[in-house]
Amino acid sequence: MIRVTVWGENVHEQKSEVVRKVYPEGMHECIAAGLREDAGLAVRTATLQQPDHGLTPEVLAETDVLTWWGHCAHKQVDDAIVERVQERVLGGMGLIVLHSGHFSKIFKRLMGTSCALKWREAGERERVWVCNPGHAIARGLGECFELPNEEMYGEPFGIPAPDEQVFIGWFEGGEVFRSGCCWRRGAGKVFYFQPGHETYPIYRDANVQLVLRNAVNWAAPEGGWAEPLKAPNVPVEKAREKLTPKGPSLHKPGEAGFR
Ligand code: ZN
Repeated sequence: MIRVTVWGENVHEQKSEVVRKVYPEGMHECIAAGLREDAGLAVRTATLQQPDHGLTPEVLAETDVLTWWGHCAHKQVDDAIVERVQERVLGGMGLIVLHSGHFSKIFKRLMGTSCALKWREAGERERVWVCNPGHAIARGLGECFELPNEEMYGEPFGIPAPDEQVFIGWFEGGEVFRSGCCWRRGAGKVFYFQPGHETYPIYRDANVQLVLRNAVNWAAPEGGWAEPLKAPNVPVEKAREKLTPKGPSLHKPGEAGFR
């Protein structure tokens, strides 16, 4: 069983009548419902408004894959929680970053780049092309699928070159975008998926739901890195082979060092 936590900012649904009409149950609950169609996933939700944004050390320790949707409240996410999530990703937890999550603190931190992009809100059609039909995240899809209304996201997208490219989106207005990208960070897998603007029912689309189920299965940990932030010193006497120290050192014997 893969344990999934669906994180939602949950602000537009409270403030906007338009978004509430599309997602009366909340975007995070709609995303979670789509994932629950996979009997191999145990899915819970967490939101910005909960203590620790719902991401306590206990919740994260019991999370194999975290999905992240945020937009207007990125700055309200506590830096300590961002560090906590980053450490879990480096330790092996999968992270699926959705749509406007491209500007979330956690995604920018893991990418180390601007994560900026072009955009236009015109309800235009998007054709999402599968550019790697052999990839686990594209399983069960045709060569492309269409979304009748989506916000345009366009290149250039300020990300490091993805380790794997799964989707490229084409928009009615002519732009293209790297809509599905994979990276590894430490022991964790990261997938960015562009569809998901809050004023259209994107997360009710069967193809989008299939992609998210595939992505969660792909991002599940394949192993773990117990203490990814530690940089342990290995004293000379503990080396695997007998070793005689040579040359000067600023460290006293047994000293942990500057790290
Ligand atoms: Zn949007």
